[in-house]
Amino acid sequence: MNNIIHARIRITGQVQGVGFRPFVYRLAHELELTGWVRNDNLGVDITIQGAQSKLMSLIERLRNEAPYLARIEQITHELLSEQGEFMEFNIIPSQDGRQRQTAITPDMAICTDCLFELFDPGDRRYQHPFINCIHCGPRYTLTAKLPYDRANTSMNTFKQCPDCQQEYEMPGTRRFHAQSNSCPACGPTLRLYDKNWQTIVTDDALMSTAGLIRAGKIVAIKGIGGFHLVCDAHSTAVTRLREGKQRDEKPFAVMVLNTTSAKCHAILSSKEIALLESPERPIVLVQSTHELPGIAPGLINIGIMLPYTPLHYLLFSELSPKKTDWLQQESPVVLLMTSANPYGEPLVTSDAEAQYSLTGLADAFLSHDRDILHRCDDSVMRVNVAAPQFIRRARGFTPRHILLPFSGPSVLACGAGLKNTLCITRENKAFVSQHIGDLDHAGTRAMLEETVAHLCEILDIQPELIAHDLHPDFYSSQFAANYAAQHGIPVIAVQHHHAHIAAICAEHRTSLPVLGLALDGVGLGTDGKAWGGELLYVAGARFERIGHLTPIAMPGGDRAAQEPWRMASAALFQLGRGNEIVQRFPKQSGTKTVVTMLQRDLNCPKTSSAGRLFDAAAGLLGLCERQNYEGQAAMFMEGLTIKQGRVEAQNNGYAITENGELDFLPLLNILADCSNKAYGAALFHATLGQGLVALIRRAAQQKNITTIALSGGCLLNSVLSAALIEELTNQGFHVLTAQQLPPNDGGISLGQAWVALQSFNQGA
Ligand code: ZN
Ligand code: ZN
Ligand code: FE
Repeated sequence: MNNIIHARIRITGQVQGVGFRPFVYRLAHELELTGWVRNDNLGVDITIQGAQSKLMSLIERLRNEAPYLARIEQITHELLSEQGEFMEFNIIPSQDGRQRQTAITPDMAICTDCLFELFDPGDRRYQHPFINCIHCGPRYTLTAKLPYDRANTSMNTFKQCPDCQQEYEMPGTRRFHAQSNSCPACGPTLRLYDKNWQTIVTDDALMSTAGLIRAGKIVAIKGIGGFHLVCDAHSTAVTRLREGKQRDEKPFAVMVLNTTSAKCHAILSSKEIALLESPERPIVLVQSTHELPGIAPGLINIGIMLPYTPLHYLLFSELSPKKTDWLQQESPVVLLMTSANPYGEPLVTSDAEAQYSLTGLADAFLSHDRDILHRCDDSVMRVNVAAPQFIRRARGFTPRHILLPFSGPSVLACGAGLKNTLCITRENKAFVSQHIGDLDHAGTRAMLEETVAHLCEILDIQPELIAHDLHPDFYSSQFAANYAAQHGIPVIAVQHHHAHIAAICAEHRTSLPVLGLALDGVGLGTDGKAWGGELLYVAGARFERIGHLTPIAMPGGDRAAQEPWRMASAALFQLGRGNEIVQRFPKQSGTKTVVTMLQRDLNCPKTSSAGRLFDAAAGLLGLCERQNYEGQAAMFMEGLTIKQGRVEAQNNGYAITENGELDFLPLLNILADCSNKAYGAALFHATLGQGLVALIRRAAQQKNITTIALSGGCLLNSVLSAALIEELTNQGFHVLTAQQLPPNDGGISLGQAWVALQSFNQGA
């Protein structure tokens, strides 16, 4: 009891903007400790005075009872000799030092307490579309810089009213130091405009918006990381949106009120339900029970998300049947919600951008006066082989970092040309940006530059090393070269599939040698050829190509990636069945030209790409002759296989040569004569899986390795990844897969950064 000591406690991790200081305040009062707590650039800083036993119990409870959104990395404490007397415990102002070490919190869905208040007529925030508290709401997208204080966010233009200010200062409440605290009297307000940007005069912008949606209109709605285009998924607006967005068959995501409502449209596992309801609220790709016309044409999956902002919930309350307990009840309302990113440009975030690029697409605009500082798309995930997997990582997850097993210089890795993301490392942490997109548009290129500047600002670093893809034509590679020249720092080019495998090694924090299977679209190989079905030996910064798929010609080059009939034609030609091409594809006008090209080897670069192998198979089975979007043919193949169920692999469908070439032409020969599409698709998957495992087993024996890393866009195929993981695990291999990032090109930047750090460490 008499043993009064002083100590300094430091907490690092995601501990700012999540209600950590109020939490410490509450614990200190409970434990009768005195002193202070503050945020600083390393995280949370506490100086404490009290009985030793209570101090120890404080440290234990800091770890065990931390607020919902907090992610603690480290708690350290040291005893202080000086005996400063503290009479009470206080929260003191933030300390702005030099190096910013603390993590930034991603944007989170509205919490259950705020949701309750939102629909409580007695609450002063009843129906306030910007309600939030320390446990919920946007963070990353409205924070300009650290530390996370109101002055550094886009809430800085709203002065809290006396009531809000009082709550903000009242320790122990959910609004104590809630930086974006507001109410109807002092917070942001909604504004509704017609298609010509004339204000629609209304007492209730949300009720009017609901009326427009009910009447079959398309409304552009400003959200957390950008605008969505929204309409009733059962209305003819879906067709208009498809035409307007030039999105022939590409699937749209939908939003439904809750998982009970989602079950009317999809088969949901408990893991999928948990993912849908998680505070990160990604779009979850699930198996649909019936086709919603125009939403996901020809696919067995549908992307569903639940409401995540107060505004979404208010919209559902207007549109859903009026019942008590309506939040838990099934609602027939299905809203099509698609990112407002016309023609592949980045997501629209401001009224000016919306006015410029969505006019003609939207019938009305529901906007507000809280600025979005960083654009951030919805994340897309699926449950694959019983584990959540990213397809696109953005809102809810960015800028959560990935912990590396070692420190090094700050690396800026510029990612691939498509599905671009950036990665910046600071000491032993890798920060992967939100999904930026395909860098063939001026807007996405500008976003890449903005994101580099923004990440450097909030992380307070200057890159010391630049990494990029081996392909010199990617905009990201050119950006890297220019940046390196401007700043006088070294630059390293990383082969595409090496980066795919390195990303898995980084996530799993292993520098030991692995065998990496990259099943992908196309990436430039070290021999100048188009790779994409590669077995690599990867050790640290080094890799060796020890196996690959037998190359198939791509008649017309990149065009063959959009037209599976071309890949099918190339396969037929290589099988000595070129004479069948013209009659097999009567709908295609270029068949004779393609035959000539193949005969004369004109504009027929060869590729070992697994993606193109899928295309060839889909073309031969007559499943898809032309793709409307990337991966469509492979998704048709996957869907049919799931419907068909498991079939036996064809043992003589593949052959492995001495130099590690895996040839599936025999399988394609069988598929060319297969009239049962579903069986053919299933046979393709089964044989592909078996052939790949055989190739791996052979290489594993030669190299004496038991760890296998799987990556590349084809790993999003649930049938293929399940077959590989299951069979390899059964054979005693240790299988590593993408968990914190997508296996597609969205994960490339982390792999590049990892290779750069490893080569620096080896060189140092
Ligand atoms: Zn809340
Ligand atoms: Zn207020
Ligand atoms: Fe790739």
